[in-house]
Amino acid sequence: MAKIRVKIPIVEIDGDEMARIIWAMIREKLILPFLDLDLQYYDLAVQRRDETDDRITLDAANAIKRYGVGVKCATITPDAERVTEFGLKEAWPSPNGTIRSFLDGSVFRKPILVKNISPAVKSWKKPIIIGRHAYGDIYKSVEMTVDKPGKMELVYTPEEGPEKRLLVHQYQSPGVVMGIHNLEQSVRSFARSCIHCALGEKVDVWFSTKDTISKKYHAYFKDIFAEEVAARQADFDKAGIRYRYFLIDDAAAQLMKHEGNFLWALNNYDGDVFSDVVAAGFGSLGMMTSVLVSPDGKYEYEAAHGTVRRHYYEHLKGNPTSTNPVASIFTWTGGIKKRGELDGTPDVTRFGENIERAVIGCIEAGIVTKDLMPLMDPAPADHETTEGFIDAVVERLKNIL
Ligand code: NAP
Ligand code: MG
Repeated sequence: MAKIRVKIPIVEIDGDEMARIIWAMIREKLILPFLDLDLQYYDLAVQRRDETDDRITLDAANAIKRYGVGVKCATITPDAERVTEFGLKEAWPSPNGTIRSFLDGSVFRKPILVKNISPAVKSWKKPIIIGRHAYGDIYKSVEMTVDKPGKMELVYTPEEGPEKRLLVHQYQSPGVVMGIHNLEQSVRSFARSCIHCALGEKVDVWFSTKDTISKKYHAYFKDIFAEEVAARQADFDKAGIRYRYFLIDDAAAQLMKHEGNFLWALNNYDGDVFSDVVAAGFGSLGMMTSVLVSPDGKYEYEAAHGTVRRHYYEHLKGNPTSTNPVASIFTWTGGIKKRGELDGTPDVTRFGENIERAVIGCIEAGIVTKDLMPLMDPAPADHETTEGFIDAVVERLKNIL
């Protein structure tokens, strides 16, 4: 069978440990035999980052900016233990953080649904995509405890004056205070990334805050979202999708009775909490994908899980592993389908969809890795190894093509 030509390169970002082992199997067995594809390869293994003083990470981010689509394997974010383990020069920052800042992007998490795994919430029938704003709020806050009576004020000193003051609290007894901030540009970029993602996925956008209580801070987010959506209203109409603003508590209640198929944009803290609620509600980390979308429409796909270190140590001992490669496979198909969409090459898009169909077909036929066993109804007799599962997907794909 002739290979399908992909017109424009995809940026491939390699990673660490078990995720890297899976990654190579997918590339060699599921992608390269079928696609005539130029991969712009960046090796972000922690040792390569160390050798290049982390320049390789910025090079990879630059390549995504240039080509528009990247696929990334999970990478180690080194802590003190990892610095010793690999003899690193320093604890390099999270590559995801570096790439996200460089592209000014937002991360969206999306679960992969199959018929024989029921979400914990009965009404969830379609994916719920979570978009979390990743700047400011309590993650860049300043805090102080107060132990004596006194006046706490918010003081703003503009370079050109005059000073502005606001009483926070007149303390008579001990207490605590926190100052948080955000930036218009960051909120706007977040709103634009959400809009790009929702238009691409053809799903409604929900945004929720507590603007009835926070009439300036939260209302600021609400107003910016409304402006950015208004600027793209024609595109919303064309895609047949809607924007809805909710109070956060109303949205949380609606979530539990909704069937899904929407993107829920959330403030930093709310997103931190609800991304884990939704991920746990859908089942397994091995079935959760993630995409970084920049406000100007550059895309980087990845699995939501890490490098699966415990399984890697088993692999190094020569023991068979049963690591779920589904999120990593969907990382590749996400990139391939987006390339097809951007390049106007429907055969490329269709190939990405066919791989996904093969994966879902395997799971629905009871061919699964160990992590899914307790979630399945009916329960399969046995589980596959990592490679056994990927080989089963290849066989199924060949039958589809
Ligand atoms: P992890 O890789 O997410 O794995 C934690 C546990 O979750 C695993 O031990 C395994 O449970 C289960 N699991 C996760 N993915 C699975 C899969 N595909 N199939 C089956 N089980 C899966 O987190 P970690 O091992 O604590 O972190 C390892 C490294 O990953 C860290 O250095 C961290 O910095 C990095 N990390 C990277 C990213 C990223 O690049 N996006 C994200 C998160 C973490 P059992 O052991 O019970 O089987
Ligand atoms: Mg969290």
